[in-house]
Amino acid sequence: MRTLNKITVVGASLAGLRAVQTLRREGFEGEITLVGAETHVPYNRPPLSKSVLHGDDDVTLPGAEELGDQWLRGRKAVHLDTRARTVTLDDGTELGHDGLVIASGARPRRLDGVRTLRTIDDALALRAELDSGHEHVLVIGGGFIGGEVASTARQRGRKVTLVDSAPYPMHAGLGEEAARWLASHHERNGVELVTNVRVTAVDGGRVRLSDGRTLAADLVVGGMGVVPNTEWLDGSGLAVDDGVLCEPTLFATDSADIVAAGDVARWPHGHFGGEIVRIEHWSNANEQGAVAARNLLAGPENAQPFVDVPNFATHVHGARIQTAGLPHLADSASVATGSPEEDRFAVAFTRDGVLVGAVAVNSPKDLIKLKRAITAREKL
Ligand SMILES: Cc1cc2nc3c(=O)[nH]c(=O)nc-3n(C[C@H](O)[C@H](O)[C@H](O)COP(=O)(O)OP(=O)(O)OC[C@H]3O[C@@H](n4cnc5c(N)ncnc54)[C@H](O)[C@@H]3O)c2cc1C
Repeated sequence: MRTLNKITVVGASLAGLRAVQTLRREGFEGEITLVGAETHVPYNRPPLSKSVLHGDDDVTLPGAEELGDQWLRGRKAVHLDTRARTVTLDDGTELGHDGLVIASGARPRRLDGVRTLRTIDDALALRAELDSGHEHVLVIGGGFIGGEVASTARQRGRKVTLVDSAPYPMHAGLGEEAARWLASHHERNGVELVTNVRVTAVDGGRVRLSDGRTLAADLVVGGMGVVPNTEWLDGSGLAVDDGVLCEPTLFATDSADIVAAGDVARWPHGHFGGEIVRIEHWSNANEQGAVAARNLLAGPENAQPFVDVPNFATHVHGARIQTAGLPHLADSASVATGSPEEDRFAVAFTRDGVLVGAVAVNSPKDLIKLKRAITAREKL
């Protein structure tokens, strides 16, 4: 391990917390300062679109109690000087470091008049709106957050319309077969789907679409994707393009003392031929926080590439949908087990005959097997 004395971690959520824990577990005895824009104790985001909307407030993130007084809450990093090795905060404080972990995550794309869901405060506000008896909820974007909100609103007896610009919700992430199944699953559970159109404006409860139609709703919620929080790095000289560009080891490009982890990091994934990816999944932030911290301590020469095969799960109207690998890279896809008609199946995705991705609907064991096969680069 090389000698570092002062490490700053920007972003006090999953990736930042795992980085701090790992630094200590690896024996780092120097000073750690964790800077977090939110005032809450680091919490788990996946329950926000699931149990929290149903009234369960448990968003505990194990390990958050270990942070102690090394954590500056409610403080934002606004500037990084890579030469002087300082991070400036929104109250003017300058923090010096000899190692930096960037874990500032991502925030939702916004549209005026549309509620979004990223923080515990967003979730409580949305729950209050649902509690107040709005009859008709319109969800923009059928990705995992939009799908889960639609599912919860239906369970709570609301009329739900889901608008998506693709032919089927989650088309890009799940592929044709599973996305078509998901569309029918939404419809069978009472969601009205409006696809192949974009929302252009929301004015009160009136939602204007790109095909000229206008829809009415009492509550409009958006799941329109996220943008990485990188503005504080403007002018720092770090390479940023839809995230912090990193080496395979999560070191920021051309840097020996800065690593990035979680939703903000974009790196060439060694398991998939160096495909440049930014992954917005819980397990990715969880693992990368730890690996980035370990690599920072080891130094670039001894650092290990981050090659974990991504995996993800979402729950929609009682169905469990899981993915592994990078299905969007595939040139071919086929149903490997079960069938969409039985609401239980798995799809295998290959590129040049090699497994690169999997989607499983209500088939967790098949997903595990396919993920192992992706890791082993098995051929189909
Ligand atoms: C509603 C919801 C449901 C989800 N469900 C799932 C799921 O079922 N499965 C799954 O795999 N993933 C899910 N995810 C995604 C998962 O939660 C994220 O991938 C994960 O939170 C990423 O962690 P992170 O630490 O990289 O970033 P974030 O969680 O985005 O945290 C970044 C933190 O940095 C702070 N910050 C930003 N800029 C600054 C700054 N300049 N200075 C200081 N602090 C800053 C932010 O306020 C934030 O607290 C869900 C996400 C949401 C929002």
